[in-house]
Amino acid sequence: MLTIGTHMSIAGGIAQTAENVVKMEANTMQIFSRNPRGSGYRVYGEEEIENFQQIRRENKFGPLLAHAPYTLNLASGTEKTYEFACMVIREDIMRMDQLGIENLVFHPGSHTGIGKEAGIQNIVKGLNMALTGQENITVLLETMSGKGTEIGDRFEELRAIRDGVNYPERIGICLDTCHVFAAGYDIINDLDGVLEEFDRILGLPLLRAIHLNDSMMPYNSHKDRHAAIGEGQIGMEALLRVMEHPLLSDIPFYLETPLDDRGHKEEISKIKEMLKQRREEKA
Ligand code: FE
Ligand code: FE
Ligand code: ZN
Repeated sequence: MLTIGTHMSIAGGIAQTAENVVKMEANTMQIFSRNPRGSGYRVYGEEEIENFQQIRRENKFGPLLAHAPYTLNLASGTEKTYEFACMVIREDIMRMDQLGIENLVFHPGSHTGIGKEAGIQNIVKGLNMALTGQENITVLLETMSGKGTEIGDRFEELRAIRDGVNYPERIGICLDTCHVFAAGYDIINDLDGVLEEFDRILGLPLLRAIHLNDSMMPYNSHKDRHAAIGEGQIGMEALLRVMEHPLLSDIPFYLETPLDDRGHKEEISKIKEMLKQRREEKA
């Protein structure tokens, strides 16, 4: 069964957000693990958490995804930035695990001049201070577009991070269609080849989430600008083929397109309608 949802605001609390997912006719969601541009977070009361758990259970939500703040940079060579990132990732792994969120995704980070290798070592060290090996949550490394000094635009770099940590079984991958396209993986003309490469370098079982986005920026541009599905350089046909790919049928899809809740509801319903039509045409 298709698992699809979007990035949701948790401004109204987490139970309210789960209710909004149901109204959107989605069956999963991505939320920020804390204020994405600051560092604050809300502590939920017992009743709110129980309501949240009940709503997701009754509506058979697929795996939920939390996204760490964009400001978090575990690759940083600047001591203050790095220590802050280490603290945030440690706290958020624990907090999201306690909430029963299945996956926490973060941007590996930007090395800002110290080089990719040193950046990767910092990420590994930070994850090793954060993970206890006792968690249920999986920490996902996001595939990046490679803008600036960003780490994670090549599958090999994500592999190096996973290989370095003490509990590699707690690490998975979140593939962002906009980012991989901008990074130079041709998901329009060679989706099978990209998935083969992913499997060879990382292993397909590590793929736990797909960020389904179109890209405003062209192939191999190393620029990160999301577009609504079908309104960017990847296009509707290629994104539908991603969703239909037999190797990806069990992976949850999360939209991060520049639309409001109403726009996302329409986007999800349009995608489902088109997938259904295509299935009927093939049958
Ligand atoms: Fe992201
Ligand atoms: Fe993303
Ligand atoms: Zn992005």
